[in-house]
Amino acid sequence: MHDGLAAGLSELIADPTRVLTAPAVLDRLSHDFYWYSPILRARLASKVAEAAVQPVSVDEVSAVLRYAGQHEVPVTVRGAGTGNYGQCVPLEGGIVLDLSLMDKLEEITPDGVAVCQPGLRLGTLETEARKQGWELRMYPSTLVKASLGGFLAGGSGGIGSVAHGGLRDFDTVRAFEVVTMEEEPRVVVHEGAAVHEILHAWGTNGVLTRIWFALTPAVKWTQMTAAFDRYEQAFRFTESIAVDAAWTKRLATVFEWPIPSFFTPVKHLVRKGKALSLIMIAESQAEALRVAAETAGGEVTFSGAYDGPRTQPLLSDYTWNHTTLWAMKTDPAYTYLQCGFSPTECEEQFRLLRERYGYDFLFHIEFMKNGDGVVIPGAIPIVRFTTEERLNEMIAYCRAIGVTVANPHVNYLEDGGRFRADNIQLRAKQKYDPRGLLNPGKMMSFHKEPVTQ
Ligand SMILES: Cc1cc2nc3c(=O)[nH]c(=O)nc-3n(C[C@H](O)[C@H](O)[C@H](O)COP(=O)(O)OP(=O)(O)OC[C@H]3O[C@@H](n4cnc5c(N)ncnc54)[C@H](O)[C@@H]3O)c2cc1C
Repeated sequence: MHDGLAAGLSELIADPTRVLTAPAVLDRLSHDFYWYSPILRARLASKVAEAAVQPVSVDEVSAVLRYAGQHEVPVTVRGAGTGNYGQCVPLEGGIVLDLSLMDKLEEITPDGVAVCQPGLRLGTLETEARKQGWELRMYPSTLVKASLGGFLAGGSGGIGSVAHGGLRDFDTVRAFEVVTMEEEPRVVVHEGAAVHEILHAWGTNGVLTRIWFALTPAVKWTQMTAAFDRYEQAFRFTESIAVDAAWTKRLATVFEWPIPSFFTPVKHLVRKGKALSLIMIAESQAEALRVAAETAGGEVTFSGAYDGPRTQPLLSDYTWNHTTLWAMKTDPAYTYLQCGFSPTECEEQFRLLRERYGYDFLFHIEFMKNGDGVVIPGAIPIVRFTTEERLNEMIAYCRAIGVTVANPHVNYLEDGGRFRADNIQLRAKQKYDPRGLLNPGKMMSFHKEPVTQ
């Protein structure tokens, strides 16, 4: 415990009501969607911060980091708290730095770059961007709630990635301003390749306070679902749309049965026993897509406009990691993995997994473009959890047959799949947070340098 922490923080910011200490509030601000993982659920439930503070400016962020450094108090940054791996759970107590009030969209430049504060909600950015003829290149299915800073620091991609890749690709993250946790905190701008020092580092090596985020020209989208008798049919049809650059698409998803049965609010789009393909396609190509789906043996069960985040139904609410949420609502024994199948060997990989695990491993495919421009079958399979050993065995087997896994059941960066082999995130931590006070325990390869007098 750090004596006098709340009083000390209250002196640093203009309005002391932005220092929060009520136990229920601290509990909420200390947790995210870590409970998605049965393993993390048991490990992280009791972790809680000693105080939370809600800065409204870079100066206040710097003041909090300076104070925390002087008193050796850990600081864990929080956007909207929708991360899945306990990224913003403070393992060693201390301060939660809640950036939700730093939520301004400063401008969208004429060439389509949004200049934003980190707490800006992605749904707000999508809505505002569309008013000016732009839209997000990609967003997580938590669009409405998630913050841009949290997406950059904790997310990877989502709806739109089939066309624009992940956050780390194609210069989408143009630049950002970061406050460091050095003895005297500095505001450092990272541009171009230098953004990769901080991107997806879970707030372990700097606090993002301003972001330059590239958008793409807005498209009039149609959302479409099609049911197929067999998973293989749905997969091949969706793949044919995903990999063909002639189709302008934002989402290409496949679910095998019984996953569609979990989507209770949109039951009318689902056909009992059938696989479901879910695609966002340019309105101008909607009719051609309908014909293609029917030719491939599918029944188009829905086709309707996407008018922005408030669209009903918003089909992305059933995709990416929302699919897992619907599965867990149906049966709490379900959990998930994050996989990448081989674009050329995937059907054999599906066969091997089915042979070994039966319907304890359900296929949920999200097509996405990788950094080389190749569209691959990414996947967030729904798996039945029995024991940690069996889950780890599933992960090991996937890797043995060439299916990559970003393990969502660990709470540190290195096995999570986005840690950079060139160690630039680690080197940035050594430079910007040498005392290891930012989100401690999440970057396992970091060790404090011995203090020399
Ligand atoms: C149902 C569901 C569906 C999801 N779908 C997707 C998906 O499709 N794609 C995807 O990528 N993710 C997905 N996620 C994970 C998560 O919602 C997203 O990554 C989201 O963008 C995180 O934003 P956030 O504001 O909630 O971040 P938080 O959870 O608040 O933070 C995430 C991490 O970033 C750090 N951080 C936050 N703000 C800053 C900052 N300003 N500076 C430095 N570090 C910071 C935090 O310390 C934490 O380590 C999903 C989660 C759920 C629960």
